Amino acid sequence: MSAPADLLVVGGGAKAAAVAAKVHAINALGLARIALTIVEANRPAASWMGLNGMTSGDEPLAITPIKDVGFPYESGGAFGELGAELDRAMLGFSWQSYMLDRGGFARWVNAGSPGIRHRDYGAYLAWVLARATAGVRIVHGRVRRIGLGAEDRWSVEVAQADAERARHEAHALLLTGSGVHRHLPHDPDAAPWMFHCDDKRGEFTRIPADRRTEIGIVGGGEGALSCLMFLRALRPAARLTVHTPSLPLSRGESFLENRVFSDPDSVGWSGLDLATRRMFVAQCDRGVFGPDGLAAISYDDQCRFLTGRVVHLGADGEGVRLDYASPDGPRAERYDYVVNCTGFDLLEQLRGLFPPPVRAEIERRSGPLWDLPSSTELRFGRGLEVEGLWPRLHIPGLAGLTQGPGFANLGCLGLLADRVVAPLMVGNVAERPVGDGRAATPV
Ligand SMILES: Cc1cc2nc3c(=O)[nH]c(=O)nc-3n(C[C@H](O)[C@H](O)[C@H](O)COP(=O)(O)OP(=O)(O)OC[C@H]3O[C@@H](n4cnc5c(N)ncnc54)[C@H](O)[C@@H]3O)c2cc1C
Repeated sequence: MSAPADLLVVGGGAKAAAVAAKVHAINALGLARIALTIVEANRPAASWMGLNGMTSGDEPLAITPIKDVGFPYESGGAFGELGAELDRAMLGFSWQSYMLDRGGFARWVNAGSPGIRHRDYGAYLAWVLARATAGVRIVHGRVRRIGLGAEDRWSVEVAQADAERARHEAHALLLTGSGVHRHLPHDPDAAPWMFHCDDKRGEFTRIPADRRTEIGIVGGGEGALSCLMFLRALRPAARLTVHTPSLPLSRGESFLENRVFSDPDSVGWSGLDLATRRMFVAQCDRGVFGPDGLAAISYDDQCRFLTGRVVHLGADGEGVRLDYASPDGPRAERYDYVVNCTGFDLLEQLRGLFPPPVRAEIERRSGPLWDLPSSTELRFGRGLEVEGLWPRLHIPGLAGLTQGPGFANLGCLGLLADRVVAPLMVGNVAERPVGDGRAATPV
């Protein structure tokens, strides 16, 4: 059992890197003494290296790397007059600093600041996590169970690489990750011909290379596009059909949309009605294709799109019969293989970490959470924490609809860290020598 941390992060990926860099900067500047523990089951930034399925690592990142762990560098919103100093310190963890450190910045700029691969982004995140050390501890292990410990602290049981089981306590908890693949209704006999968006890419080599195959991809978002591009490279002769629940659309990415991701307060996001927020997320984040990825497949005559929600997959000899509700009524297609890219369910992943009595206690303290219809809006506070729950449980991956669309992805990692870390300053502020002119307490 180690001394309680101020914050424990489950997962050492993009969000953890942003929070670790912010905590390091705050501690290194002497603004506070925050103790952060990150527990990572695989290795830092594993998801981006293709070690957790979801990508081979070679698929393109759908966002510019300039939107790095400090972006949008507007910490004044959370830290008042300390914000400017903090933003300057965060430049040490920027994409530019990383490229300078690697000696590749000029070459990248000369090449027109091109998009990068997932694994390049992963290498950047691992670089950040290796440098963010002040007050930051990374534990190699898998979180198995989360409970409520003494004095209203979280008690986290970890199967650690260096010890059988260890327990870590923390005053606040941050849950990260994309979640597990959503369920797509299918006959058990169809399973041998199915893949899921979080399968390891190596599994796809089961698809024969020596003959032309028909592959169906179910889903209308980034996961489906990423998978399509991967399959095109893996099986150039395959015919790929993408099934989207409604008309396939590309993501809006002008400054109008981008500012909502990086600064939701600038449009009064939390005050907008639910329908407007849902419409924005549907048009600019979930269930839409990135324009760059689309450009890569736009002239591919072995790729087609069919509209209509897929309702069931059945076995059909050595393949799958896919039933969908097309605009002209029920239709069916036959495929050799089908990939379920209908998205991720983060709540399902988290359910597995909290035993039923703890889930019940969380709901007793803050209201229904675990088994609500997907149409229900879950309430999250400005810290991206479950509203009304103590101790704090931060779940940015679910807080996008309430607090801002960028918190569920890479749209504003710096702001995400501001929101999660600012509450930790209370009671942790380091006394500054009198007269150094800088405020001792944050806003
Ligand atoms: C392959 C991929 C590409 C994406 N591309 C984009 C994009 O281009 N633009 C965009 O805005 N969004 C993108 N997203 C969506 C979204 O941004 C990310 O899902 C999310 O923001 C990633 O950050 P994260 O820290 O939550 O998760 P991750 O970076 O995935 O980190 C989660 C970490 O948790 C670890 N872990 C999981 N369970 C446990 C456990 N029980 N104990 C300990 N460790 C655990 C994993 O090993 C992993 O390293 C992408 C998601 C994926 C998976």
